[in-house]
Parts: sequence; structure tokens; C-alpha cells
Amino acid sequence: MTERAKPLSAGRRPPAEPADADGSREGTRLEARDLDKERGEPLSGGRHRQARALRSHARPLGEWPSRPRILVTNDDGIESRGLLALKEALDPIGDTFVVAPDTNQSAVGHTKTLMRPLRVRERRLGDGSIGWSVDGSPTDAVSLAFLGFFGHGFDLVAAGINYGANLGDDITYSGTVSAAMEGVINGCPAFAISQEYYAHPDFSLAARAAATVARNVLEHGLSPGELINVNVPAITAEEVEGIEVTRLGKRIYQDELVRRLDPRGIPYYWIGGPPPSGLAVPGTDFHAVVNRRIAVTPIQLDLTARRLLRRLRDWRWELPPPEAVPGDPPA
Ligand code: MN
Repeated sequence: MTERAKPLSAGRRPPAEPADADGSREGTRLEARDLDKERGEPLSGGRHRQARALRSHARPLGEWPSRPRILVTNDDGIESRGLLALKEALDPIGDTFVVAPDTNQSAVGHTKTLMRPLRVRERRLGDGSIGWSVDGSPTDAVSLAFLGFFGHGFDLVAAGINYGANLGDDITYSGTVSAAMEGVINGCPAFAISQEYYAHPDFSLAARAAATVARNVLEHGLSPGELINVNVPAITAEEVEGIEVTRLGKRIYQDELVRRLDPRGIPYYWIGGPPPSGLAVPGTDFHAVVNRRIAVTPIQLDLTARRLLRRLRDWRWELPPPEAVPGDPPA
């Protein structure tokens, strides 16, 4: 019997699963499909995390039985001014808990660290409060929080304020949006907020936008699988033309492959080029931001292509006979 690490919050964790004969837990994980008794659908993991700001629990802020708990994270790292601005914007609304990557993790997407341990360090933030840094991704930071690091759950996850917009296709790369998605996967309402890039951003407008979004989510709630993506144009509070509810737009990337030689004469490649543009189609996040409005875009984790789903039903789905596929093991 090997010594087992003590879970951080006993009682919240499922019983440890036995390892397979080969030492992996993949087999048991695949079989751990508890049925959701209400919906008759399999639940992976079978852990129940109550989030009060799901639609059924949402209510005006003054009617909450206790202050909402808000997890604050980002992908730019624990030292980002944008993270501090977000935390300070949400302090009046609820109890904030900051856990964020120790280094800049921009564009890591939904990376999750599985092959090495995570180190967590207590850090003093710019306002004198305590936060925690993780030597991993934004998703790792959020996972840590929901798997018992703080010993309690959360009512809202807020990610940002990111240096640089996350518009349209950007969200597929974004560590900021992925952090919010990880909150949603853990059954908690979430939003991501990004500030269009300029050299020395003033986060005051974005901070006010964050407070508005947080209040709305806590009061109205989100349904499971939903999150909100917010983008703030690089302008002052006097110049802003309000908030627009938008859909995702289409980015135009202008990436260039830069080929250079290292000191030993061996070529290396670097993806560079000018910042992305986009199609300014009315109703999209990109159009709103270029027209000096804060874009608020609803996102859902269900990426199913509904039109393609209908088309696929008309395609032929018979498997070819086994002998027709090279590489099959001989019988
Ligand atoms: Mn970033």
C-alpha cells in the first residue's frame, strides 16, 4: 500500500478509484459514468457542485443569503494589472479569491497539466491582499479552486482583464476564455473580460464593465454550459458608446511565418505578423468594438454543429468490411 496524499477537503472528494492493472486509471475513469437520475444521462465523474448563480438560484444582489464567492483568474499571470483591476472591481460585489498562473499563459487555450505536479505559491497582490499563483495554465488554476484548494465552491468565475481583445475566432486560442469555460465545466457561471490592446492600458472602463456583467450574472444567472465573453475597446470612459449584446464575429489573421537562423546556423520558425483584423459585420463583437462599444457575447460549450448534424443523418454510415481496411490485425 503506497502512501496516499491527504485530500484538501475531505468529504468533497469522491472515493479514490483503484488503479488499473497497468497502473493507469483510464479504464476505471471510462466506466465511472454515474447516471444523472433526473435526466437519465451519464455524468462523468459524478461530482455535484452546487453553484448558486445558475438560473434557478439567481436573485437580486441584496437578496443573497451571503456574499457571493467570486473566483478571479486570468491568463496574463498573477502580476498583471488587469487581474488586480478585475479583483478590485468585484470586491464590492462579493468575496473575491485570486488564483492565477505565475507566468504569462496567453493563447494556451484550454491546456490542462497532467504529466507533472502543480506548485502553488502565496502572493501579495498590489492592493495588499493575498492571492495564489500556480505554475500551470489558467485551466489548472480554475481546476485547483474547484477541486478543493479553498475548501469551498464559488458562485461566479471571472477571468481577465486580458491585455488584448478576444473576439470571434480568438476565443479558440484564449486562455482567458478557457478559464471561464473551466468554471462552466465545474457547474459555475463565468465570464471572461478582455481589453483591446494598447501600450499602457487604462483598465478603469473595463473594470466598470466587469462590475456590470458580474451583477447581471449573479442577478439573472446562466444556464448550465453558458458563459459570457466581454471585450472593451481601447478608449476612455468619455468616448465609449455603451454596451452592445453581440454574437461572435470572424477574425482575419495576418500571421506570417518568420524563418531565421540560430547562432549555430540551424533554421527556426516564429509565427509573427501584424495583429489580426476582422470582418466588421453589424451585430458581431468585432463590429461593436471598432464602433466604440463594449461587446457582451453569450458563449455556449455545446459546439455541436446543428445544421451539419441534420446533414450527417443523410450520409451513409455503414462500416466497410474488415478485410477492406489495411492494417487490421489478422483474425
Ligand atoms: Mn492574455
